[in-house]
Amino acid sequence: MNKPDISVVCPCHNEQDVIPRFFAEIEKIFFDLPYSYEIIFINDGSTDTTLDEINSLSKIHKQVRVINLSRNFGKEAALTAGLDLAKGEAIIPIDADLQDPPELIRDFIREWQKGFDVVVAKRVDRSTDTFSKRVTANLFYRFHNSIAHPEIPDNVGDFRLISRRVVTAIQLLPENQRFMKGIFSWVGFKTSVVEYTRQPRAAGETSFNGWRLWNFALEGITSFSTAPLRIWLYLGVIVSLIAFVYGSAIIIRTMWHGVDLPGYASILSAVLFFGGIQLIGLGVMGEYIGRIYMETKGRPVYIVESDSDAEQNDTP
Ligand code: UDP
Ligand code: MG
Repeated sequence: MNKPDISVVCPCHNEQDVIPRFFAEIEKIFFDLPYSYEIIFINDGSTDTTLDEINSLSKIHKQVRVINLSRNFGKEAALTAGLDLAKGEAIIPIDADLQDPPELIRDFIREWQKGFDVVVAKRVDRSTDTFSKRVTANLFYRFHNSIAHPEIPDNVGDFRLISRRVVTAIQLLPENQRFMKGIFSWVGFKTSVVEYTRQPRAAGETSFNGWRLWNFALEGITSFSTAPLRIWLYLGVIVSLIAFVYGSAIIIRTMWHGVDLPGYASILSAVLFFGGIQLIGLGVMGEYIGRIYMETKGRPVYIVESDSDAEQNDTP
């Protein structure tokens, strides 16, 4: 097969109910566009019939390619697999659940044709997300951007168009723990923004609950900032200074007024307070050391169990 112009890359984890609709929508978009395309579905260890759904699509439609990962590796890994295997001149990562409106693909391509290497989709209206998700997402972006470099634009997800040379740049980043939002902004390139309203999920359920989102946020912050490590130096200096001043005050007071022995409560609270602070510091260090440990193993980001393209090439 010749190289397609556009690769649509769709990581899927338990998306059986939306796959046919998703495919129909994408097909509709490309029907009147003068570009050849492929849709790469990456089955990320689904436990439902997602794999059957996408396999049956790929049997009928030659532009559908199925990458089946050997287990659930997480969305970031599935997306990385998709980027590695896509052949198009422009690549569009998109969620299967139709929360990323496929109509935007037209705008993406238009901007790409103007010469932008990256076209991102910015959510202007998140009212379909729950209140708590909006608040926590907002807090995350603020905190992340105040300590990490480069900034990640807020309300921009993975849904975007990236040109072939951006993909090549992304592949230069060898890290194992891949926070794609950060990686996308780290590589840079000329970027255009298209705005849209986030839709509710077409069917199925989100794979990201509160705990997984929390870990995702930690991943983002630790991947792109060492500020949480450095803060302990300054905190230590401040606490030592306070201790020094307080100690001096006690010495002077004792010289003036003689010895008195109050202070069981204040000593205990100080001990507990500093014990707590030290444990937090250790915890932060542990977080980074754990990541160093995982990186040094140098394990692959994902394992492909089967690839419909490779199978086609195998058959004579
Ligand atoms: N996804 C994946 N692997 C996972 C979790 C999710 O490939 O372990 C896919 C999922 O099928 C969907 C996309 O990532 O296409 C976004 O997931 P979801 O809709 O659950 O996230 P949300 O939109 O709620 O942030
Ligand atoms: Mg979703």
